[in-house]
Amino acid sequence: MNAEEIYTRIQAARDRAGRKDSINFVAVSKTRTADEMKEAEKFTCIDFFGENRVQEAESKRESYGVSSIGWRLIGHLQGNKARKAVELFDTIDSIDSPELAERVDRIAGEYGKIMPVLLEVNTSGEAAKSGISPEDFTMLFESVMPLRNIRLDGLMTVGPLTDSERDIRASFALLRELSERARRSSGLELPVLSMGMSGDFELAILEGSTMVRIGTLLFGPRHYAQ
Ligand SMILES: *Cc1c(COP(=O)(O)O)cnc(C)c1O
Repeated sequence: MNAEEIYTRIQAARDRAGRKDSINFVAVSKTRTADEMKEAEKFTCIDFFGENRVQEAESKRESYGVSSIGWRLIGHLQGNKARKAVELFDTIDSIDSPELAERVDRIAGEYGKIMPVLLEVNTSGEAAKSGISPEDFTMLFESVMPLRNIRLDGLMTVGPLTDSERDIRASFALLRELSERARRSSGLELPVLSMGMSGDFELAILEGSTMVRIGTLLFGPRHYAQ
């Protein structure tokens, strides 16, 4: 596992961007076994696990035992899985509708918990991607503001599937602009910009990413069960 090498690349990209702030490293552990995750957890440069399915995370959490790092939900969340997600995860990074935000808020309230969340934006316009459209982002942001059992930490996006660096950077720049606008209008800090994966994390860092989500580069190619 080459976590240290990836971390070196993260820091080099940050230096190239002329930044001094810290960038979180999320190990995207979907399809990986609890044993592989235990190995990743040993690296101090890894800050979180990222899982994209509630059910998979549930079965792994049982066998995993105590985790010294937080688990983030980075995949699309259906309303009927919101309760499980609030129970299992330390943060939910894929809030993409007012209804989902309200449901998570209500359930977190029942548990006496404040749930940290990110709002996911579809900045590429690709139909297969989840996330609120940039046009509807303000509406979602304003609907989340009054919720008291949710703590809004920032925004998340998945870059476009393309070789065009220009298009990839434009997608990340759009997320940063939405975040800056929301920060100005609300006075909230919104410290997290979760963007960048194995193939594009360096570009994301140049556009201001504070959190990269790396799966393939860390664990190797994913093998999906049939
Ligand atoms: C799978 C996944 C990643 C990691 O992708 P890699 O290309 O394997 O690094 C990051 N973010 C999300 C939302 C994912 O679903």
